[in-house]
Amino acid sequence: MAILPIVTYNDAVLRQKADPVEADSEELQTLIDDMFETMYNSKGVGLAAPQVGKAVQLFVIDADEMTNELDDEEDLGPLVFINPVIIASDEEYLKIEEGCLSIPEVRDEVSRPQKITITYKDRNFDSQTLIADGWISRVIQHEYDHLRGILFLDYLSAFRRRLHRNTLKKIKEGSLQTEYALVPKLPIEQE
Ligand SMILES: [Zn+2]
Repeated sequence: MAILPIVTYNDAVLRQKADPVEADSEELQTLIDDMFETMYNSKGVGLAAPQVGKAVQLFVIDADEMTNELDDEEDLGPLVFINPVIIASDEEYLKIEEGCLSIPEVRDEVSRPQKITITYKDRNFDSQTLIADGWISRVIQHEYDHLRGILFLDYLSAFRRRLHRNTLKKIKEGSLQTEYALVPKLPIEQE
């Protein structure tokens, strides 16, 4: 297994629509293992393939990390979502603070449906349907957005976004200190 560098918000791969995973392969299984290791190393609870530079419809989450503090939620452990589709969303919205491994140190509140139903293939390529509520629902929706080229910053007002301007600039320049490896898009060299 290997820890992969995480791309930052300004990388074009995070704005692409990810391609469906066509078939199982040794390469795919290695990518899944590496994504889990990368996610645990950076203390994240979810990681989408585009965040490690692969524009494919795959994300991993560790629901265990989230459910430990919330005993009323089912303990689901590590989950792999391949070619996921959200087929139903609750009409009730919740405002919860989010962060993103590709946008370190930036946190802000985002309003999203409380409950969703998602279909996907697990790492054995078995079809699954999950009705997710609370924290798990939140993390799934955030990671699902990554497969469509959407970042949580996109939901913020211009005012809220401006408050994060300095941190965003530092990330873009590659001058923000983080505890995990990042691949900032390097500034164009002045001749
Ligand atoms: Zn993210």
